[in-house]
Amino acid sequence: NENLSDKEILVLGYAKTGKSVAEFLVKQQANVTINDRGDLSQDPSVTLLLEEGVQIVDGGHPLELLDKHFDMIIKNPGIPYTIPFLQKAIEKNIPIYTDVELASRFNKAPIIGITGSNGKTTTTSLLRELLTQRAKGNAYLAGNIGIPTLDVIDQATEDDDIVMELSSFQLAGTEQFHSEIAVITNIYEAHLDYHQTREEYAKAKLKILANQTQDDYVVYRYDNAELHQWVEEFKGQLVPFSIETIDEFVRENGAYVEGEWIYFKEEQIIPLSDIQIPGSHNVENVLAAVAVAKLKGISNQEISDIVKEYKGMRHRIQPVANVSGRSFYNDSKATNITATITALNSFKQPIRFIGGGLDRGNEFDELIPYLKNVSGAYLYGETKDKMAKAFKAAGVNTIEIFDDLIEATSKAYREARQGEVVLLSPSCASWDQYQNFEIRGDVYIDTIEQLLLEEPYTD
Ligand code: ADP
Repeated sequence: NENLSDKEILVLGYAKTGKSVAEFLVKQQANVTINDRGDLSQDPSVTLLLEEGVQIVDGGHPLELLDKHFDMIIKNPGIPYTIPFLQKAIEKNIPIYTDVELASRFNKAPIIGITGSNGKTTTTSLLRELLTQRAKGNAYLAGNIGIPTLDVIDQATEDDDIVMELSSFQLAGTEQFHSEIAVITNIYEAHLDYHQTREEYAKAKLKILANQTQDDYVVYRYDNAELHQWVEEFKGQLVPFSIETIDEFVRENGAYVEGEWIYFKEEQIIPLSDIQIPGSHNVENVLAAVAVAKLKGISNQEISDIVKEYKGMRHRIQPVANVSGRSFYNDSKATNITATITALNSFKQPIRFIGGGLDRGNEFDELIPYLKNVSGAYLYGETKDKMAKAFKAAGVNTIEIFDDLIEATSKAYREARQGEVVLLSPSCASWDQYQNFEIRGDVYIDTIEQLLLEEPYTD
């Protein structure tokens, strides 16, 4: 392990991650300075750190702070390199890392790193469930999923695994980071404002492969031809997964779908009908997780048991109930049109659609091509009339307007027929009526559960 004792280290940004970094560095007897643009004087955790001798500079990022010598900067992943403070640090050749780099220098357990544009959290959490079936050791969750990496490395031993969700922002600040198994769920164009170009964005994600050797594995989306080319330039063994491009290479080396079954290296693993989380995007997430589970020696029976039970992340096309031929889903996390399109594409059955919320001034015309399956729209919130226009243009006959989510849900519940899906996928932020999307989703779930008790279906 690296010796940080008496090293001068600047922690840039003091949120959940910054706190875990500062506490870790204090234990390593480094000399720690924390700099945050906000006011930290009211934060009780800061008082404790002050007692440990940590220096605090808050209320901005003064350039003079860099006149002092620092051996390294550990920055919050969200702070862009373009701010003048970091530009000056780069000029002064001060190494700038994220907590992930620090964790990887002190960590003993093998890391399974998961990155990509979409599906990170779902794949990470399913994989964690699958790895609880291992013969020995534990699987620890860490990273972008909400658990600072430095908080788990003390407990995790060589016999364990750390299942680490990694954003490209976290990966951008790494150098020696090494993952025994790297998963790249996909690379779509996004976050281009922060990373500037597509190339740079992809490069940041590919940093997950930087220190892999021939003994390591990379599990990646084979249907991205470009991604396949990129991963070939690294040393890890290639483990593709695919729902579209089923050729000899994927059959011999990876996970894929054929004849309504999931296979891994020509071995039949589970039928698609066992997967509860809807949509082909979730089949891809299951493929990625199954590939890693197989590499880790989890048995087919164990994989099948866990996948069958897995209900996905709360509020992301989350199955709520399946009663009398009606299936209820909560997709409260869908705060924009793109997310709602993913949800609409996830079902073949007719959909009773519930949506609406904060008005950001946009129209909803982009939804029109995806509304063919909608048998009824139950709209509420600030955007209800704007959304109604789109549904009308798509030829949806049943369009009803409500004051709130509970009324809209109740009506959708009553009108849903056998074989239909009832879906909350608001396409809007919740803030006109709810503090956050979690509370909105919980209100929806509570309403459904109450209706199932009070007005059970009789057909
Ligand atoms: P992330 O952690 O990468 O943001 P999540 O697993 O939280 O991803 O999923 C967020 C949303 O992204 C989902 O509700 C869905 O709309 C979309 N999504 C999830 N998995 C995929 C995938 N494999 N491909 C494309 N879109 C996906």
